[in-house]
Amino acid sequence: MRRPLVMGNWKMNGRRHTAEALLSAVASGAAGLSGVDIVVCPPYPYLGLAADRLAGHAGVACGAQDVSAYADGAYTGEVSAAMVRDMGCRFAIIGHSERRTLFAETDATVAQKFARALAAEVTPVLCVGETAAERDAGRTEEVVSRQVSAVFEACGAQAFDRAVIAYEPVWAIGTGRAARPDEAQKVHRFIRGAVAQRSPDAAARLRILYGGSVKAQNARELFGQDDIDGGLIGGASLAAADFVDICRAAGPG
Ligand code: PEP
Repeated sequence: MRRPLVMGNWKMNGRRHTAEALLSAVASGAAGLSGVDIVVCPPYPYLGLAADRLAGHAGVACGAQDVSAYADGAYTGEVSAAMVRDMGCRFAIIGHSERRTLFAETDATVAQKFARALAAEVTPVLCVGETAAERDAGRTEEVVSRQVSAVFEACGAQAFDRAVIAYEPVWAIGTGRAARPDEAQKVHRFIRGAVAQRSPDAAARLRILYGGSVKAQNARELFGQDDIDGGLIGGASLAAADFVDICRAAGPG
């Protein structure tokens, strides 16, 4: 039985005072929930604040939105996996579609970042997913399979022993148009099968999150699918009540 996981990706939003308010509201809302792991991923400048605020709240952990492909050193502007671990992060989003498209991250760069996270004992959350054009061309499985394989090639057969995958169809991110639960389930099953070809035990344990316009209204049906083990939430993670409702939908009931 895989324990559900819901992660909030705040992206580049907020200020110190809004981060403080959101952290407090999520922490108190989540206090009444059980059976679900919850992670919030604030922007880098607020990670220390988040780690401090969440220290007494076992139910909510802190994650980073990215890590550098490099270890510490002369890489101006970069933030290493070891640094985010040092700030108290247990998770890091790797290869989000906004990083892949707006910042030209290749599969190889994403795989390097994944390896850096693992080495720093930060759980990588690998984002995979097809664009609308790729979907229309019937290439969804080819795309997600290529994205997963790049990580296996860089990190070996044990790559997903301590990792999470988030299936995020690019056409569903921030559009208000989530994948249908049955269509998301089909891709999740495919991803689990792709991991199982190299590592059956890891595939059975692997948490595969769905991301893309998850709201309180559609969360329960999405999370009720056999291979959907929770969600990666963008827009709705900025409103504590909505985010907590989504977390509740992932729990036992
Ligand atoms: C995301 O960016 O990871 C995401 C899922 O965004 P949204 O929930 O806003 O679609």
